[in-house]
Amino acid sequence: MMRNPLPVFLALGGLVACSPGATPRPSVILISIDTLRADHVGAYGYERDTTPFLDRFAEQSLLFERAFTPASWTLTAHATMLTGLQPDEHGILADGLAFSPETPLLAERLQAVGYRTLGLFFRGLINEERGFGRGFDVFQNHRNAEEAGAHLLSLLPQESGGPPLFLFLHLFDVHSQPFKPDSSIVYDSPEPHRNRFVAPDAAPLPELPSQVLWETEGLLDPEQREHLVALYDGAIHYVDTRLEQWFSELERRGLLENALVIVTADHGEALGQRANGRLHGHGGYYQEGLHVPLIVRLPDGSRAGERIQAPVQLGDLVPTILEVCGLAPDARLGGLSLREALPEDRIIDGARGSSRYALRWPEKYVDNGGGRVLHTDLSRDPLERANREVDAARLQSLVERARGERGPHPAPIPMGARSLAEEQQLRDLGYGGELDEELLPGSSPAAQGSGER
Ligand SMILES: [Zn+2]
Repeated sequence: MMRNPLPVFLALGGLVACSPGATPRPSVILISIDTLRADHVGAYGYERDTTPFLDRFAEQSLLFERAFTPASWTLTAHATMLTGLQPDEHGILADGLAFSPETPLLAERLQAVGYRTLGLFFRGLINEERGFGRGFDVFQNHRNAEEAGAHLLSLLPQESGGPPLFLFLHLFDVHSQPFKPDSSIVYDSPEPHRNRFVAPDAAPLPELPSQVLWETEGLLDPEQREHLVALYDGAIHYVDTRLEQWFSELERRGLLENALVIVTADHGEALGQRANGRLHGHGGYYQEGLHVPLIVRLPDGSRAGERIQAPVQLGDLVPTILEVCGLAPDARLGGLSLREALPEDRIIDGARGSSRYALRWPEKYVDNGGGRVLHTDLSRDPLERANREVDAARLQSLVERARGERGPHPAPIPMGARSLAEEQQLRDLGYGGELDEELLPGSSPAAQGSGER
């Protein structure tokens, strides 16, 4: 565990000192459920009862129907979530990079104005070496939700009344499990969740190592894929029940009073729904990769049950938190506070490696990294079965408009070398070579075929 007992003073522009007698700043609870597709959440219309707790929580909250990640990759997405900068601004576009020491992180901003900051995370691509731990009084990793819960309940205050709290909780249990050579399990969760949605007559999964299942194209027939999706859904149900348990304890301790609570995901999951049937990857630039749940409960509980259609992005979270917590806006950030009236025609964009996308609903433009730009109209073609090449300048001009006059931003720095064991751990999580191989719209003739969901 890393402890930073002394808050570091940071020369961040626009910080507002906490004045005696002022209204206490709200606590902030930000939960990132890694790999949770929006369309597998009940409140987003999923037919299975995967998320009974989150569905009830959504009734007390604002629900953003069109929320997008800037990249269907844990690292780049969380870098945006926790800085408010777009990928080409924070620069964490590829492995091997760490935040510039000059790039302000959300926890640093909140710590500097007196928040007690607690980061609980699954250590894979999120780690201290990249700078993710900056600004956290306690930055503690866990292996699963069970351990996360134990850390949460022991590290959180027993009662309200202390300094405002910032909790960042990253849960990895919906993500595919670390590969084991003697196991064919890709998505796993404890019973009674694991087989909750698996039909009694479900097609047996091939008894192959999980890594082979994950990486081999066309290995699963549609019935076997259904079985696998049911296991993924079981893991969602498991996480939902943990959240219910923890929220009940947070409530008992009074920690949800005057708290801004945000539940979201860093990206979705491919689930082998495209024509080649490959499981590998988090969905690339298809909607199953980019569309994430985003549920925001305001500290005063106002606007409960409101559903918002305007497109929003993970880069809006930091501006929202600054605004709700009474900190001055930061002109370096391009996101909007989610409490504002949001424009329907705003430009959402993202990038990873040399690939990128831009979306002005319902028009979506994707450059897979080769300079060709493919266009999809999501209102006519929601499953993205057809796209066509357009002038690459259309994507470029949307990104330029989204950036406006902001920047330049501090460049990332190289991360220290990893040990062989750390490299193997990342490969076991399915991260090795993912950038080159991941499904992207139009990246292969097969990938343009008959998607299903
Ligand atoms: Zn992730």
